[in-house]
This record gives sequence, C-alpha cells and structure tokens, in this order.
Amino acid sequence: MLNTMDTSHPCPLCGAATPFAPRYPRAVCPQCAAQACDSQGRPLAFYNEGMGGGFYAILRESGQPYPSHESFIRGRRCYAEEARLGGILIQVVD
Ligand SMILES: [Zn+2]
Repeated sequence: MLNTMDTSHPCPLCGAATPFAPRYPRAVCPQCAAQACDSQGRPLAFYNEGMGGGFYAILRESGQPYPSHESFIRGRRCYAEEARLGGILIQVVD
C-alpha cells in the first residue's frame, strides 16, 4: 500500500497493516503476536495481571508461569510487554 498513513505501519514480521504507536515502532500485528513461543517453540499466552495492568505470561499448553518477557515468533526474537493503554504488545528486538 502506498497510501500508508502514520496511524498504521507494516508488521515487521508479515507486513500486515498494524496500528502504529510512536512509542512502539516495532510492534507486530495481532496475528503474529498470537504465534509467540518460548525459545523451545512452546506457545505462550500473555495477560494483564488485573484491572490496574501488570504483565504475566504462561506456557499455553501446561499453564505454567513463564517468568520472562522474551518470546519468539517464527524464529525472530521479540519482547512482550504491557502496553501503556492496556493490553499486551509484542515488539521485534533483533
Ligand atoms: Zn504480522
């Protein structure tokens, strides 16, 4: 798309138009974020801890806590964090 407005950017992993926030210039799209795994390829799920925010992650299959922000999406190293306005946001770091 040539007419890229500054409210969206291409996902750094798949190129899909993704809402853009200047604070998170390397954020991936929701479809890629849903594929986040740990370093051994186990699917992860990320959550806000409660109404006041906070961040936690689990291994989706076992439900075990995953005490890290590091994640991998299709082999790319990423960092998951609590977004400023709520929700979870994943950015590519490599
Ligand atoms: Zn994507």
